[in-house]
Amino acid sequence: MDNNDQEPNRKVNFRFDNNRFALIFLIALVGIFFFIFLADGTTPAVELPYSTFYQYLQDGQIDTVKILDYKEIHGVLKSQGVSSDINAFRTRIPYPDDDLMPLMREKGVRVKGDSKGVSPLLIILQTVPWLLGLVFIWFMFRQVQGSGNRAFSFGKSRAKRYTDNGKNLTFGDVAGQKEAKYELQEVVDFLKNPQKFTKIGAKIPKGVLLVGMPGTGKTLLAKACAGEANVSFFHMSGSDFVEMFVGVGASRVRDLFEQGRKNAPCILFIDELDAVGRTRGAGMGGGHDEREQTLNQMLVEMDGFETKDGVIILAATNRPDVLDPALLRPGRFDRQVVVDMPDVQEREDILKIHGKKVPLGPDVDLNRIARATPGTSGADLANLVNEAALFAARDNREQVIMKDFEDARDKLLLGVARRSRVISPEEKKMTAYHEAGHALLHYLLPDADPLHKVTVIPHGRALGLAMSLPEKEIYSRNKKWLLARIKIAMGGFAAEKLTYGETTTGTKSDIEQATALARKMVVEWGMSDELGFITFGQEDEPIFLGKEIARHKDYSETTATTIDKEIQSILRSCQEDTEALLKEHKDSLVLLAENLYEKESLGDREIRELLGYPEVKKVTDL
Ligand code: ADP
Ligand code: MG
Ligand code: ZN
Repeated sequence: MDNNDQEPNRKVNFRFDNNRFALIFLIALVGIFFFIFLADGTTPAVELPYSTFYQYLQDGQIDTVKILDYKEIHGVLKSQGVSSDINAFRTRIPYPDDDLMPLMREKGVRVKGDSKGVSPLLIILQTVPWLLGLVFIWFMFRQVQGSGNRAFSFGKSRAKRYTDNGKNLTFGDVAGQKEAKYELQEVVDFLKNPQKFTKIGAKIPKGVLLVGMPGTGKTLLAKACAGEANVSFFHMSGSDFVEMFVGVGASRVRDLFEQGRKNAPCILFIDELDAVGRTRGAGMGGGHDEREQTLNQMLVEMDGFETKDGVIILAATNRPDVLDPALLRPGRFDRQVVVDMPDVQEREDILKIHGKKVPLGPDVDLNRIARATPGTSGADLANLVNEAALFAARDNREQVIMKDFEDARDKLLLGVARRSRVISPEEKKMTAYHEAGHALLHYLLPDADPLHKVTVIPHGRALGLAMSLPEKEIYSRNKKWLLARIKIAMGGFAAEKLTYGETTTGTKSDIEQATALARKMVVEWGMSDELGFITFGQEDEPIFLGKEIARHKDYSETTATTIDKEIQSILRSCQEDTEALLKEHKDSLVLLAENLYEKESLGDREIRELLGYPEVKKVTDL
């Protein structure tokens, strides 16, 4: 049974079929048991105690008997006997009774011998129901596990196929996510017209990994890709691959890729990749054999794939950090697309998309709802609209009004707060000033990289983020750039101090970063005037491992003091510069921070517009 050719809504029917199937199965089972019961042949007989039988025998009421293996007697009474309601009977012989045979002969009973039939048919009939029973129990177990068509599709991927006869999603159905859409557009273009790319030998990524928090729309984006390109979409969740039985997952992977090859051009989408793709050998007790086999199979399949076949593999995860590095190697998921949490504007757009599906009252202000739902994801907002509609329905109203949205929001934020992603307004304001401090310095310092985007939406453990974008790949940095980098790192601290007169613990990683840079300038890069062209301390571990670098102390105490002094002097002078610079541009800082608080994220162009800085022409060297 292979349901790959079903439309999505057929799934419901499958459930139904399964239940009906189960019922028929059960009836058949009962029937077989009943048949065996009858097949035993002797069943209508009344079971008599041996003593009663003996009594009847002595009274001469027994007509015929059949002795089975000298253990059991089946017999018939004489019709004119005392107990007319008993005709056929059986009894067990409790002990080897030597008197029995002589007595029977004496009473003229017709005696036949037989053995308890071990006919092959009976054996089959007796074992089959048990086997069927086991299969049935197993089948029910699979049902309970929650997937419709599992029992008879072992090893077959139940990749659901969304083709153009279903509801086709496009990028228009995904609000915001401009950058992700931009990156995925390339995939779409390729799928629409693979020849155009392959003819000139252009390389298209084989696998694209969508990375983002739960509910940010990764699955939605993947589906929209297929819709945009108008190709088939095979969807499968990583957890579907992980099965009780070793080897099943691997065979499912094989099958999924085979489906892909057969139906090219298409998109294979593996949701929750981390369920199979966790780093191998990391399991407790060393044995996640099944998962490792599945992962290995996936790696093998991806390697055996040619993009020119017209198959693109998308995957989604919210834990890219736990993925096996082998998955991220070139030729596999070598491209990552970040799917961000929505900012205010994006939240409003998401609400608009989902608001279209319900009748909205005239007082509904989606912008206000968007502003009142910080830290929520697209899925949360889709849920919010639904909850509001439920509130309206409960009140028997035809339209969803603002009050419904407010009630729904209160309910939603409780849930979100439990996941502890919600930020209080005060905290958000502080973060806005902190990030604005970082961001503003990108514009005030001529040697700094241009800013890409600044946001107060939490990213991992950070409350906010100011992202810079080097114009070109740079392998070596000069002192001016490094000093600018240190000052930018100090910008958050300085802005907090300038605005609130005190600073928060949110500055920890900034301080670490600045200090590490200043230290390297002194001990590695010879950028201190006092100490000059010299390196101190030998590194124990290569930098790219990202571990704390342990150093041999190969210098005197006096030098150590000088090193510390030099580091401090760099940091101190940077700090003074930074604080002075921000004080001088306090108006800009406040303007930027307040806007950031409102909009939650700002791009380079918006900031330039806001602060009246001229648009810079990007230097493009060839
Ligand atoms: P993820 O796969 O990242 O966990 P989903 O793609 O499953 O998230 O999103 C769940 C639902 O949330 C979607 O079906 C959609 O209704 C809604 N949603 C999420 N992000 C967006 C968005 N950017 N635009 C519109 N709807 C969204
Ligand atoms: Mg998903
Ligand atoms: Zn910071």
